[in-house]
Amino acid sequence: MGNAVGHLPAVPSNSISVESELRLRASSRNYTSHPTAAIIGAGPYGVSLAAHLQAAGVDFRIFGQPMHRWRFQMPKGMFLKSEGCASNLADPAGRYMLSHYCAENGLPYGEWGAPVSRETFAQYALSFQRNFVPNVEQVMVAGVYALREGFELGLANGATVRASKVIVATGMDHAAYTPHVLSRLPSELLSHTADHHDLSRFKGKEVSVIGGGQSAIETAVLLAEEGASVRLLVRKPALVWNSTPKMVRRPFYQRLRHPLSNLGVGAELWIYCAIPMLFRHLPQQIRHQRVATVLGPAGAWWLRDRAAGRLQILLGHTVSRAEAKSGRAVLQVSEGEGPIVEMATDHVIAATGYRFSLAHLPFLSHGIKSQLRAEQQHPVLSSDFESSVPGLYFTGLASAKCFGPAMRFLDGADYTARRVTRRLATRRQSFARLALQSVRTRCKEF
Ligand SMILES: Cc1cc2nc3c(=O)[nH]c(=O)nc-3n(C[C@H](O)[C@H](O)[C@H](O)COP(=O)(O)OP(=O)(O)OC[C@H]3O[C@@H](n4cnc5c(N)ncnc54)[C@H](O)[C@@H]3O)c2cc1C
Repeated sequence: MGNAVGHLPAVPSNSISVESELRLRASSRNYTSHPTAAIIGAGPYGVSLAAHLQAAGVDFRIFGQPMHRWRFQMPKGMFLKSEGCASNLADPAGRYMLSHYCAENGLPYGEWGAPVSRETFAQYALSFQRNFVPNVEQVMVAGVYALREGFELGLANGATVRASKVIVATGMDHAAYTPHVLSRLPSELLSHTADHHDLSRFKGKEVSVIGGGQSAIETAVLLAEEGASVRLLVRKPALVWNSTPKMVRRPFYQRLRHPLSNLGVGAELWIYCAIPMLFRHLPQQIRHQRVATVLGPAGAWWLRDRAAGRLQILLGHTVSRAEAKSGRAVLQVSEGEGPIVEMATDHVIAATGYRFSLAHLPFLSHGIKSQLRAEQQHPVLSSDFESSVPGLYFTGLASAKCFGPAMRFLDGADYTARRVTRRLATRRQSFARLALQSVRTRCKEF
């Protein structure tokens, strides 16, 4: 099936000996506690899973800054691309949805057609965390090492924790992708969209945004609204826009033929959302292709008017080289087969997305990485999200190539939390019940 991950540059070369040493010393260490499970990351997936483990009576600890990405690594003024009904964390009873939070706090809410602001979602997600998982430990995990039985986690504050199971819920961290052609630019002239929370510092500047998806278009629009002069460089010949959701009640036959899921209309999307367990059984090539293309780069329907007339949009333009000259970034750009022209700009923002790679996870020891079975740097997972290292689980983006495109979005958190909890809990929920629950919550129009 997959290939083992080789020796990886992100890990110091002495890691194996460090790990062996830890194994030898494990029995004599004085651990602060020894929970069944340690969750790394307190984003939507980590916190949803923790809420389920809590309800199932599983002893766990969870580490990280709650909702750090949503609070600090997305731009102010941003709106979610997912509709209201697809913008939830998952509690076992399915009660604390975004709709409930908005109703409680007098905020506008709509299942479809009412864009959710980042601010509202981040407040909801934090409120969820405080209600269900108040025990988040706000410290980063610096290292994870395999012991003879279980794992040892080294925390950034110097403490050490031992756990039987480890769940990696670090989402898009360490996955920001910047094309190699930009690598000659110094950091003051180049950033990734993940680096920005407050775009107002670009007021009065000329900024080039590279990319053609939601993040690129929205960042460009927000920059323009902050008073920057923005050029959007898009490799494809046209921008793709999502269509406005239609709120009309559809005839039964239409609903059956093109079922509605949280991620949109169509049988394929419905299957990805309702029965992600089937995805693993597809051939590897098809799985990878579907994850890369389903719900691929496109602008949200509500962004189109805001982009019109505000940006210089250069379609079909490819950047082949970039370098710093006299304090500015100079991009070498060509349109199709046309000549290369130079474009100078004050700053370049790569809105070029995220690519998960096991090699880039700095906290996994070399020993663990060398034992992981992987497909193109993604862990091969069991039907319970467990990797080939017993007791080590991966969620979210890392699990998308096994469980499908829904795992790239908030919508996949519910299934993930139920499935992993089912594995870790002593009182097991039957597989049939789990599948039924998943399908029932997604039969939206029936
Ligand atoms: C700009 C942008 C917009 C998006 N919009 C949408 C949208 O509208 N709808 C949607 O469904 N999805 C959206 N997504 C995808 C979205 O990020 C995921 O759906 C969701 O956040 C995934 O949750 P997660 O918990 O897996 O990851 P994250 O939200 O990335 O959370 C992972 C957490 O792990 C923490 N962490 C990392 N390393 C460590 C460590 N060593 N120790 C402790 N903690 C650690 C991080 O600080 C972070 O808080 C968007 C993504 C981006 C970048």
